[in-house]
Amino acid sequence: MRIVVVGAGLGGVSAAVGLHRLGHEVTLFERGAELREAGTGIVVMPNGLRALDALGLADDVRGHVMLAARAGLRDRRGRPLLVTDAVTAQQEVGAPAIIDRADLHRALRAPLPAGLVRTGIPVERLEPDPTGVTVISDGAPVARADAVIAADGIGSRLRGQLVPGHPGLRRTGRMDLRGMLPRPPGVDPDLLACQLVDRRNGAMFGLFPVGEHRLYWFTDSQLQDPPPGADEARRRMLALMADWHPLVTALIEATPPADIYVDPIACLAEPPPSYAFGRIALLGDAAHAMPPDLGQGASQAFEDAAALTRHLTGAEPADVAQRLLRYDADRRPSANRIMRAASRQSRLTSRTGIAAWARDLLLRAVPSRLATRQLAALWHA
Ligand SMILES: Cc1cc2nc3c(=O)[nH]c(=O)nc-3n(C[C@H](O)[C@H](O)[C@H](O)COP(=O)(O)OP(=O)(O)OC[C@H]3O[C@@H](n4cnc5c(N)ncnc54)[C@H](O)[C@@H]3O)c2cc1C
Repeated sequence: MRIVVVGAGLGGVSAAVGLHRLGHEVTLFERGAELREAGTGIVVMPNGLRALDALGLADDVRGHVMLAARAGLRDRRGRPLLVTDAVTAQQEVGAPAIIDRADLHRALRAPLPAGLVRTGIPVERLEPDPTGVTVISDGAPVARADAVIAADGIGSRLRGQLVPGHPGLRRTGRMDLRGMLPRPPGVDPDLLACQLVDRRNGAMFGLFPVGEHRLYWFTDSQLQDPPPGADEARRRMLALMADWHPLVTALIEATPPADIYVDPIACLAEPPPSYAFGRIALLGDAAHAMPPDLGQGASQAFEDAAALTRHLTGAEPADVAQRLLRYDADRRPSANRIMRAASRQSRLTSRTGIAAWARDLLLRAVPSRLATRQLAALWHA
């Protein structure tokens, strides 16, 4: 079967590998001039790792599983609010992997033959008819396919075409900064895999080890609109977090602005009514862009890619629409559940004032065993 995948992000690339390995004739269109993933670190949750296992893509990634003893929420000075036993959670459901985004993308795309990828081609629209789909770029057809996978990311143009009237994205009013740097000596291991929150302003700082020698940090706070450049964003974040645990400001200060990514956070205003539209399917952020608070965006995309690969095993042009409906039934309910949970988590960590005070009081009362079980449930997704 001829399958076109639109978008070579983490989701599109992993789907292209899975479908190519089934023996389908895959073409991957990417609007960027080259295949790459920019950014810092990324968390791949145990469910994402299992999906990559199913795609035969987990070997490199499993070398990056996190070895943290604790995880959970702390206050801005690093005092525990909700401390979990990460070792037990890892034993129950497996450990997440923390990996450099560029390394992850490189590992996922490695099995793709070069001839299958076409960069510098922005897909403008899809024209389905009873026998196939014509893929249009710059006003001209660039491919004809039996099935098309729209993996064109959070701002998906193709989703807009497939679901006319969809409200698109909703800005959450938050802004994230992300950085990665060599691990300085003497970092308290209890702070790794933790999120620190400040109930005065709803700001959050998270920290993860990337291998033995690097750290990945991120902040989440109220959006200053329009979002400032990295230099200004870093200056403002340092001012906001001046009285936090000293490691927080030390790490932000030690990260050059050129290595800091600033993202205004958005998510889908509402889930699409389906992921399957005849011979066309949505995958990854195009289908379920969510706030990053659960670290599930990419893992959900990997689950999509694994499910799609399963459902298109042995597919023929005549039965593709039926099979994509099964993909939709398989994936949409659980991805919607995770989207809702990510929005809830975002609201929980960004609380301020009396609501945040009540949250902290409640969290401190949660026994570690229960918190660990909840962590395992989150990681298991
Ligand atoms: C601050 C932040 C932190 C995050 N942290 C995590 C985390 O720790 N763990 C996690 O799992 N997730 C995380 N996420 C979410 C995760 O990054 C995304 O869910 C994931 O990258 C989505 O992959 P994708 O392939 O669906 O989309 P994308 O990675 O956006 O890829 C889409 C691709 O399509 C291309 N494209 C777009 N339009 C067209 C077109 N018309 N024609 C051709 N090509 C096109 C784009 O150039 C791009 O290459 C985070 C997100 C943010 C913002």
